[in-house]
Amino acid sequence: MANGLNVAVLGATGAVGAELLALLEQRAFPVKTLKLLASSRSAGTQIPFMGETLTVEALGEGAFDGVDLVLASAGGSISKEWLPKAAAAGAVSIDNSSAFRMDPTVPLVVPEVNPEATYQHQGIIANPNCTTILMSLALWPLHQVRPIQRLVVSTYQSASGAGARAMEEVKRQAQAILNGEEPVAEAFPYPLAFNLFPHNSELNELGYCQEEMKMVNETRKIFGSPDLRISATCVRVPVLRAHSEALNIEFGSPFPVAEAKQLLSQAPGVKVVEDWSRNYFPMPIEASGQDDVLVGRIRQDLSNPNALELWLCGDQIRKGAALNAVQIAELLTVKTGVAATATA
Ligand code: NAP
Repeated sequence: MANGLNVAVLGATGAVGAELLALLEQRAFPVKTLKLLASSRSAGTQIPFMGETLTVEALGEGAFDGVDLVLASAGGSISKEWLPKAAAAGAVSIDNSSAFRMDPTVPLVVPEVNPEATYQHQGIIANPNCTTILMSLALWPLHQVRPIQRLVVSTYQSASGAGARAMEEVKRQAQAILNGEEPVAEAFPYPLAFNLFPHNSELNELGYCQEEMKMVNETRKIFGSPDLRISATCVRVPVLRAHSEALNIEFGSPFPVAEAKQLLSQAPGVKVVEDWSRNYFPMPIEASGQDDVLVGRIRQDLSNPNALELWLCGDQIRKGAALNAVQIAELLTVKTGVAATATA
């Protein structure tokens, strides 16, 4: 491998880990050496990367010795325990879990929104929640022109948001139901195939689940708007990949639809997808595998002259996790002068 950074992907066998590896390769990230880390369950698994075959190692003491950059996607408890050790060993970690997102000393970064925060890190940079990243790309260009006063969001979140196992479970459930058998739910609390249910993260005393509170708190932190009024309802739907969101966005004055469309059509990471004559708007099946967040059905809220409605779909494994993390890593390489030859 070429000159560049000694990189470790922690959680390399997972849904986000697989996408991280694909993106490092596709974007020609300057990788000098690559270490693949997972649990002892998948130690020894062989994974191809840039024409070589790499072997997955079990996470353990000394795993980060000599590593410059850790791309972490092995869950919150693993990050909490191991990323401070990686920082102590001299590595910078970009973490996909929620472990450090609200830590005031840890930057929470969407490169299209607050890239400058990247450089305030003390060894750990947090990647925001997937629904939050996707939403922030559509909100930020509007917020800069007319500050958002209030936001109401409903999500339609795919099975793969809960990991590779959950996605396989939904396929098995669908097959079982079609065969006239009882679907088995293990990764999720209830069958998701041909069904949907409110997001299954822990509920607080007000009745909001963790996922909903992540959208509230993380958006405020990324936008630097601690008082932004946001209410979220998160729902898991039997889509395999890519999340969808319906947003109602209230401003201090009317926001002409044409102006909003114009701003969104020029916004980085956003693609406006609308053909009103065909009722053709963003769909998760078309957002899957794409870098851009697809935005459409941009329209006036009939009940409020100061509010807009819009619909978006985005690949939450890609821009909602792995791509955002790799973009942050690219910002670091620009700053440190490591040759980055990213193409996108
Ligand atoms: P996943 O498909 O379940 O993969 C989990 C990864 O973590 C696997 O590589 C697994 O390795 C590894 N792992 C589990 N326990 C470990 C341990 N004790 N030590 C070392 N490695 C361990 O999950 P995912 O969907 O990729 O999610 C990973 C993280 O990204 C989570 O924090 C999640 O919240 C976050 N995230 C996910 C998405 C998404 O759309 N999926 C989006 C944004 C953020 P084994 O193969 O050995 O089990």
